[in-house]
Formats: sequence, C-alpha cells, structure tokens
Amino acid sequence: MHDDDFRALADAPAAILILGQQALGTARRLQAVLPGSRIHGLDGRVQGADAAYTVFGDTLRQLYRDDVPLVVLCAAGIVIRSLAPLLLEKGAEPPVLAVAEDGSAVVPLLGGLRGVNRLARRIGEGLAVAPAITTSGELRFGTCLLDPPAGYALADLEQGKRFVADLLGGEQVRLEGDAPWLATERLPWADDARRTIRVSCVASASSDDALLIHPRVIVARVRPPFEELALQVRQALASAGLAFHSLACLAAEAAMMGNPALQAAAETLGVPIRYLEGSEVLPDRLPGPSGDGLSLHQAPAPFDPATLGRARGRLTVIGLGPGAAEFMLPATRRALDEAQDLLGYQTYVDMAGPLRVGQVRHASDNREELERARHAFTLAAQGRQVVMISSGDPGVFAMASAVLEALHGSHDPLWHGVDLQVLPGVSAALATAARAGAPLGHDFCMLSLSDNLKPWSTIEHRLEQAALADLVMAFYNPISRARPWQLGRALEIVRRHRAPETRVVLGRDIGRPGERLTTLTLEALQPEQVDMRTLVIIGSSTTTGFPRRGGGEWVYTPRWYPVAPK
Ligand code: SAH
Repeated sequence: MHDDDFRALADAPAAILILGQQALGTARRLQAVLPGSRIHGLDGRVQGADAAYTVFGDTLRQLYRDDVPLVVLCAAGIVIRSLAPLLLEKGAEPPVLAVAEDGSAVVPLLGGLRGVNRLARRIGEGLAVAPAITTSGELRFGTCLLDPPAGYALADLEQGKRFVADLLGGEQVRLEGDAPWLATERLPWADDARRTIRVSCVASASSDDALLIHPRVIVARVRPPFEELALQVRQALASAGLAFHSLACLAAEAAMMGNPALQAAAETLGVPIRYLEGSEVLPDRLPGPSGDGLSLHQAPAPFDPATLGRARGRLTVIGLGPGAAEFMLPATRRALDEAQDLLGYQTYVDMAGPLRVGQVRHASDNREELERARHAFTLAAQGRQVVMISSGDPGVFAMASAVLEALHGSHDPLWHGVDLQVLPGVSAALATAARAGAPLGHDFCMLSLSDNLKPWSTIEHRLEQAALADLVMAFYNPISRARPWQLGRALEIVRRHRAPETRVVLGRDIGRPGERLTTLTLEALQPEQVDMRTLVIIGSSTTTGFPRRGGGEWVYTPRWYPVAPK
C-alpha cells in the first residue's frame, strides 16, 4: 500500500449523491458543512443539482474507485449492494456514509481508517442528529487511535489493530510524547501501564507493546542531481535515526519545478515537494553527513507543508464541450473543481460553475487572447492551480494555441516549470455531427470563417481547395454582426463545386438550452438561417440522408468511396 493511502480523507471534498428531488434540501444542508462538496442528482429526477448522473451504481462505483468520500442519501442497503463487488478490490477505502434523505439518520459504512466517523460526527452536528457510530474502540475511547489527525502518521496499521484490541481487552496505556488530540479522551490511562502510545519522530521497531505515531516534522532539503533521490532520503533518515513517516515534505529550489527525477522521488516517498525562493527560513538543520545534496531539518511540531515556500503551479487548458454537463470529460470536471483561478470568456466561466467559495474568476470579454494566456502563466508561476476555459475543444479555434504561443515566447524558467496540461473536449462539429447521425464519417476538414485573425483571401483559397478535394466541411464562426457577408461569399465558392442537393447540417446551441438541429440542402441554405452560435456542416458528394422515425432525417457520409471520384 502506498504511504499516502493512510491519509485521512475526512476533509477532502465529498460527492453527495441523491436519487430524488425531495433529498435536495438535505443535500444542500450537507454541502454547507462539507465545503467544496458537489451534489450529484439522478438525471431526469433531480433539478438544480451540481452534476447529473444516469446510472446510480456505476456512478457510485466510479467515485469510490476515484477515492472520493461518498455521502449517499438513500437506504444503506442500496449503497452496500452497489459497492459490494468492489470491497475486496482495494485495501484503503474512502469514507462512505448513508444519510436518510430527510436528514434524520447518519450511518458511516466504510472508511473507518480514513476518517468516516469524524465525517459522520461533523454531518451529525450539521443535521442535529447523533451519528450511528459502531466502531467499538471509538465508542469506548472517544477517538480512533488508528486515524491520527493531519500532521501525524501511524507507523503500522496491523500492529495498531492488535494494540486497540488489547486496550479493548482491558490493558491500560500511558503516553510518551505529545498527543494534544488525545489529552481529553477516554483512554484507560495509567502511569505504570504495559502499553504505550509513543508519539515521536525517532525510528523504532514495531512492537505489540507500543503504538507508534510519528509527527510529520522533517523537511528534506534536496539539491540536484536527483539520481536515486528517494533512496538517499530514506538512507539519510535512517542514519539520523528518524522514522520514515516523520518526513513531511521535500524542499527544493523554485528553478527545479517540473524536474522529473525530483517528482518521481516525491511520488515514491509519498510526500509533497515545496519550492523555495531563497527567502524562506527552514526549520533547524539536523547534524548529519553534510554533503551538498541533502540536508534534514526538524520543526518543533507538525506543520502544514503548504505553509513552506510554494507548490508547483498548474495550468490546465480545458474545453467544456458543447455545453451539456454530460458531454464534459470527468478529468475536466476534476480540473475545474481543483482550480483556484479560472480564466476565460465570461460566458464560459459562467458555464463552468457552480464554483466553490474562494475560487477566483478572472472573466473578461475584451482581454486579448495572448494577454489572457500570459496572465494564466503569471498566476500559475506563483504556485496557483489555474484553469483556462474554452468551449468545445480547447485546441479547436480556442485558447490552447494562445497558451502555447505565450509559453513559446517566454524565457521565464518559472513559466516553463508550470505543470501545463491540455485536456480534450467535444468540439462543436463533433457534437453537431453526432446529433445528425454521421456526416463526418469520411474525410473532412474544419474551417473558421472568421477573418479576424487571418486574411479573407486565405479563407477563400482554402474553401476552394476543400471543395475541390470533396471534403466534408465544418464551418466554425460562420457569421457575425461584424462579418455579415463572408458566409454568403463562402457558399458561392462551395456551390461552384458541389451539387445543389448536397446535404447540409446546421447545429445551433447544441448541448445547450434551446438546441436546434436543421438538415437541408446546399441549394436551400440561406445565410440568414445561420448565426454565430451555429456550426455549419457541408456534406461531400457521398453524404446522404433518409427520414428518421419521429421526424427529421439521419445524415451520414459512408465509409466507402467511389473508386474514381470526379
Ligand atoms: N473551441 C470551440 C470552438 C470555438 S469557435 C469548439 O471546439 O467547439 C466558436 C464557434 O464554434 C461558434 O461560432 C460556433 O460556430 C461553434 N460552436 C461552439 N459551440 C457551439 C454549440 N454549442 N453549438 C453549435 N455551434 C457551436
């Protein structure tokens, strides 16, 4: 098991699942006590949730596999049966609770070692009901000894379970070291007890007489080269007599951001990397082999690594898809949930919501694209989690190119150290094509008819060539108030090479409220039928259509092609 798997999840944003509208009120009350949590409502049954799902069991299992704390407003039995197939699959389960939809009962089910009871208490307080806690150690002692708070790590879970069983069997216990969270609890304390809870960063062999809890107080200051870094850190801790679990973080110079060997080491060790600018004061340095590569520093008490230096910033360039939540990638949803700063056109930032308290929108309608991209890097270089929002796919006539151009033009090592990722999205042409059938089933091209960023003569030339090549064409930005005549001119060019009965598909606001799909012929197409929220598909010589049951028609382009095209 990865060391990190012991991390308590009680404070991570939860997924609140509801099956019916009547549970939404309770779900909102839960959301108020679980900051950052999102309400997932069954599609068609719940209105006004933060996200919609279609299949309950699959959704629950996916979230469980993604290690998300789950609060499910339905019968405990439904939750148990849905998760049953996964229970043997995984050692460390996220917290899972069933809550009565009227808020009258809170039942922690799974995740005893990841803070489920703490979560149950917090929810119980919020709903003013007593949570149904059944863990004996916890009931007797008022605390879960095996789930110490943030900043402390349990050395050995299996040994810990035996230790708690001994206490339940009547053994008494004494405390060595500092455990402020235990002081008031109902443990069977005795000064001459044979069992000891030992809170210390000193390494010692696991024994059934002592429960070892290590405060995370050690910072390993590391410098390149980073070969075998994880091993070096382990050896340095061992030769200083320190417990591995007391390692809180690695600290490196900011210029090392993005160094793959450093990241691999941190991953192996299961600790975060903090980047220093030189001005930070590290905790006291411990004596030890004073090579240049590595030094260990010990803080007087556990501390939050987030308070030391800064994290590696991240810039994720995402596309929302055409609009509907279910057409957005789960990875995109996650990036939006984790973001601290969101940039993009106002409309898209609004579509990305609901946002958490504390997420900063930098919405602007008039900021130039390259400028907005630079703004994103400036924020990310400060260690922030930034998301740049486009509609559809971010790489199709959207922000991804501007972001890369901004980076290409920069020599700032901090910008190049940003964890940059582009996530794909469902582009308008793909969404429109899917609604119509399969008009893009054979070779096609995507063209923007906007001459804001390229000369109109280039557009005409490309239209001509695409028409000659008998490619299906998807027109983005087909028309606007500032560009009223261009579409008419484009159609003139296409009509010279395509038959009047050529299939045309118009998709307006696909995946958004008021979505409209129109299929017609090239001959019948008038620029007045098109606006800037429309995606135009012009078929090739093989694109065809037939009536569909219930009205309208299916349009598709077959996979085959005549042997000798005209
Ligand atoms: N990156 C986006 C495209 C941005 S260009 C994508 O991949 O979809 C903007 C153009 O995309 C609009 O003028 C329109 O032609 C098209 N478009 C975007 N969203 C649309 C939608 N939901 N329905 C129809 N067309 C859309």
